[in-house]
Amino acid sequence: MAGAIIGSATWNQGIDNGYTLGVTVNGNCNLKCGHCYLPRERSAGVISDELIRACADSGFDRLAIVGMEPLLNKSVARQTLKLLEQSQEKFQILGFITNGLNLGSYAKELAALGVDYVDVSFDGGPSMYQARRGVPFDKVRRGVESALEEDLTVHALHTLYGENVSEESLVDMYALGNILGESGKQFFSPYVFVKGREVQSADLSHVLQTLVSSGFNSHETAHFLLDELNVRQYVGGIRCSEVQTLFQECGIDMKKVDLAPLEKMDNVLRVTWDGLCLHPLDTLDTKTYSLTGLKVTSQISLFDLRSKLLGRRCL
Ligand code: SF4
Repeated sequence: MAGAIIGSATWNQGIDNGYTLGVTVNGNCNLKCGHCYLPRERSAGVISDELIRACADSGFDRLAIVGMEPLLNKSVARQTLKLLEQSQEKFQILGFITNGLNLGSYAKELAALGVDYVDVSFDGGPSMYQARRGVPFDKVRRGVESALEEDLTVHALHTLYGENVSEESLVDMYALGNILGESGKQFFSPYVFVKGREVQSADLSHVLQTLVSSGFNSHETAHFLLDELNVRQYVGGIRCSEVQTLFQECGIDMKKVDLAPLEKMDNVLRVTWDGLCLHPLDTLDTKTYSLTGLKVTSQISLFDLRSKLLGRRCL
């Protein structure tokens, strides 16, 4: 949820009180990242006007728009902007997650529509970004600069996996703090294992130790997000004593850490562009969406669908 599902929306935004809607607006992306949990079979599908209305009228408190890539091209961006326009007066916080490649073309409109923050996914800093994502760092940097010119808050998201957890790589990522502006933060989250992806998982204790040895505690912009999805692959759950012990042993500054236990995740609903809603814990295996998700219809509110999903999880 933290990095993968709703970006930085768990951080310091009163998520303990209130509800977050994470909306995936389309089925295609202009990148093919080795850690991406979304389907490898891409689709040209985009969220419909009817589903936009259902999301905008949901009564949830925070909206986190994610793609695949919500600014992929003109037709996807048009629906993304429509969702923001209809949501503007209805949510307390509007968040937006993008790979940043087309951010420059839409920064003005995002700012005009009252977007509170933009999360840009990186997984590498100025020196290593291109090797991780296959596109020039300067392209995304220009997008970030355009957003800052419009006074948007821009955060960096970093997924940490075997190939990018090293002191050198993390120091490179910290360097992004120089381009994020005064309000920008960097959020680090461990990769959640997904079958068939190119990257390797990194051991949680290794992730924490390398963060600390690379200077995480002293980098003002650096924060760590960890949730049930991140932790269940290593140990029994975020509240288990092993996780607390790991943090203590590694000496990580807990003021820079946000832990999202199950109750926080229960307050999040994920809606896909093709009209399914899912509990965040069920979102990583896209092949089972049709089994675990419920169809959004005009007859039942998203709040009621959330209650049904929670009821199922208790059975
Ligand atoms: S930019 Fe995001 S959605 Fe696109 S492939 Fe990478 S991780 Fe997946």
